[in-house]
Amino acid sequence: MAREADLVFVGGRLFTAARVRPWAQAMATRNDRFVAVGTEAQVEGWAGRRTRRIDLHGRVVVPGFIDAHAHMADSAGEIGWTRLSGTRFMEDALARLRKAAARTPAGDWVVGIDWDEAKWTDRRYPNRADLDRVSTDHPVVARRIDCHMGSVNSPALERARDLVGLRGFDVDGSGRPTGILKEDAFSELHDRFASGPAVIERNLPRIARMAHRLGITSIHDVVPMSAWQAYQRAHRRGGLRLRVYAMVPGTATASLAQAGIQSGLGDEWLRLGAVKVFSDGSLGAFTAALDAPYEGQAKERGMFVHPPSKLRETLETAHRTGLQTATHAIGDAAVRLVTETLASVEEENAGGTMRHRIEHYELPDEEVLRRTKQAGLVASCQPNFIGQWSGPGDVYENRLGSIRMARNNPYRRIARLGIPLCFGSDGMPYGPLYGIHWAVNGYFEDQRLSPEEAFRAYTAGGAYASFEEHQKGTLETGKLADFVVLEGDPFRNPQTIDRCVIRETWIGGVRVFPVSKS
Ligand SMILES: [Zn+2]
Repeated sequence: MAREADLVFVGGRLFTAARVRPWAQAMATRNDRFVAVGTEAQVEGWAGRRTRRIDLHGRVVVPGFIDAHAHMADSAGEIGWTRLSGTRFMEDALARLRKAAARTPAGDWVVGIDWDEAKWTDRRYPNRADLDRVSTDHPVVARRIDCHMGSVNSPALERARDLVGLRGFDVDGSGRPTGILKEDAFSELHDRFASGPAVIERNLPRIARMAHRLGITSIHDVVPMSAWQAYQRAHRRGGLRLRVYAMVPGTATASLAQAGIQSGLGDEWLRLGAVKVFSDGSLGAFTAALDAPYEGQAKERGMFVHPPSKLRETLETAHRTGLQTATHAIGDAAVRLVTETLASVEEENAGGTMRHRIEHYELPDEEVLRRTKQAGLVASCQPNFIGQWSGPGDVYENRLGSIRMARNNPYRRIARLGIPLCFGSDGMPYGPLYGIHWAVNGYFEDQRLSPEEAFRAYTAGGAYASFEEHQKGTLETGKLADFVVLEGDPFRNPQTIDRCVIRETWIGGVRVFPVSKS
């Protein structure tokens, strides 16, 4: 019989994330879609002889999470590198690297990632002398958590000789390299120790399992071109149940434009997303572009990655081609420049919004918020940053001072102005519930959303940002059956959202977590 569901779920509290009817009790799926979402009576009609009936026992169900700013292909390439997160002194991090060096053949790279001096009592960047104490038989590199900078030892500097003079290559008063590399210099060095596509492809299924445990069903992944191939091969083999909207480097814009390739190409598993463009650096590295100097550094205001005319050229080329853009902008000066540029590109090339996105969007002022709304731009934010760095004495306060810091990540202003908002993690760390917790329980009133608004940004908001709002992002009839069953109620107990547990994750009507034995 045609009107028979594969699965009927009853007895739940379903937050659909839809504007009309945000709550339901039951749902039915057939193949990879919802065929009914509503009251028990509405859904019962779909139960047939072969339908499996699942009692939710009053549990909360939400749409599958869409991490709208992920680096999972990068994460796949980083398996085997040494994690330096959770260390409380620089010495702890150096000790971990020393252990890694002991089991690495001499001459091979020793790579450490995710140190954060804001969490160390010593509060300074490691330099060449520090890392020479790890090993002088290996090139050693330790990447800061923001990925915008890293520190290296003397053998690694040997391999970076040709980078002297590049922007971000730090030298001391007498011209000697300090071992600290930022932005351009660091990104050049990065290509020399990064994993190749074969490693990425091999590790992708493991990364997908991590996503499933966290309730993530779709990602907007920032990928290097080599990872795009790894994703294609992994999906073709059918080994990857994770929906990927791949955001490719902005440097590919001209060649994509030449080939006439537009955002959206692909299918519901793997799609070409936005071109990813940088406008500034990070607060942690003092490279995010600020209007006024950094706290306690009268001459430091950060940097623009590209001159404004070059930024405009890239964004305009993409826009005319039909490529969505996703521009990294953190500091207030960068957020303003990108907003103004995109607004004028949209105005001068009329014909429907491309939903251009601003990634991070951490310090928009009132005027910028207004322009963002007017131009139909999307704010792509990471609420986990509040939990990580917005507390007393942490990065935002340290870099911005106590007055400016109160303006960081104003989700409430963003949402209440009606600016399309999507949430992601930037992988720092992955975990939608952790992010949602901080979007609801932020330090400042302007940061705080209702649980409903926060869940929407992590689900429907992401679907809108990838032009897939008719396919996913809400629990509604006709959409892909991507959803999460929770233990604990984040709507009734918003102060403890981070203590809720992902009980089950389903993608396209198939349970992917926990993995069934059959
Ligand atoms: Zn990122």
